[in-house]
Amino acid sequence: MRIEHLTLKVSGRSLYPLWDVSLRVEDNEVVAVLGESGGGKTSLAWAAVGRPLPGQEVVAGKVYFKGRDILNMPPAERRRIYFKELSLVPQNAPDTLHPTQTVARTLWEIYTAKNGKGEAREAVLPLLEELGLPEEVLRKYPHQLSGGQKQRVALLLALLNRPQLVVLDEPTSALDVLTQKKVKDLLGKINREHGTGILFFTHDVSLAFSLARRVVVLYGGQVVEELPAFKRESALHPYTRGLLASGPRIGDPPLSRRGIPGYALPLLAPPQACSFAARCPQARDVCRKEAPPLVKVGEGQVRCFAYAAGAQRGG
Ligand code: SF4
Repeated sequence: MRIEHLTLKVSGRSLYPLWDVSLRVEDNEVVAVLGESGGGKTSLAWAAVGRPLPGQEVVAGKVYFKGRDILNMPPAERRRIYFKELSLVPQNAPDTLHPTQTVARTLWEIYTAKNGKGEAREAVLPLLEELGLPEEVLRKYPHQLSGGQKQRVALLLALLNRPQLVVLDEPTSALDVLTQKKVKDLLGKINREHGTGILFFTHDVSLAFSLARRVVVLYGGQVVEELPAFKRESALHPYTRGLLASGPRIGDPPLSRRGIPGYALPLLAPPQACSFAARCPQARDVCRKEAPPLVKVGEGQVRCFAYAAGAQRGG
C-alpha cells in the first residue's frame, strides 16, 4: 500500500484532519502509526481502505493498494476486495458486528465469499484458540459477548481469509493486559507465518515499537517523524521523544504520570507554522512563523527545523 500526499478536509469547514500525509507498507511489513487522540489516526485508517470518514473529503492525494487507486475505485469493486485482500478492524469494531446474526453465521458468510463452500470450521478453530476465545462464542449473538470478546471476534473476521494487508485502528485499546498480549502475539505470528502485512494505528508507544518494523508518528494531521522501530532510542522529533518519555518507569511513585504538557489541536488551516510549536520545549521564533518540511535523516524522516538545514526533503 502506498498513501501519497493525502490531504483530508472536513466538508464545509476549514479543518484538516490530514495534511499531505505519505506512507507505505511493503509486502509482509508491519507498520505502526503512533500518536495521541485527535492527531488524525482514525481519519487515516479509514482513508487507507478507501473510505474516508463521513463528513470528510479528499482534497488531494492517492491511496494505492496493489497498484490500484482505492479511493477512486467503484464501491462494488472495493467491496470485492474487503476481507479477501484487505481488511479493516475499526476502533469501534465491537459495534460493527451484525446484531441479529450469530458469530458463526457472520464468519461463514465472510469465509465463503472468498473460499466458496469450503470448510470454514477448519480455518476458524485455530484462530479461536489463538485469540483465547471459547468455541461456544460461535453460537452466540453479539449482545451475548463481552466487549473484549467482541473485539477479538472482529479481529477474527478480519484475519479469517488471510488478506494481504490488515489495517487496525487501536487494536488493543478495549482489551485487558493479558488479551492485549495474545492479540499482539497473534498479529506477529500471522505476519511471520502467512506474510500478512499489518498497518496499525495506536497511542500505545510500547505496542508500536515492539510489534512494528517501522513507526510513523502523526501529530496535528501531519507525519512528524518516521523511523525504524529498532531506532527507538534515536528518535529525533521533540514530540516522539515526549511520547517515549511519557511511559511509566520502574521507581515511579504510584499513580504518577509524565506527559507532554498541553493538548493536540486539529489543523485549522494549511500549516503556516510548526503544529507542535505551542507544546515544544525547543521552539524558536522560526517555528512559529514557518512550517517545517519533512526531511530525510539517516534511515528515517523528521519534520523539525532542528534537522532541516542541509537535509534532504522527504515525501
Ligand atoms: S520545528 Fe521547532 S517547534 Fe517544531 S518540533 Fe522542531 S523545534 Fe519544536
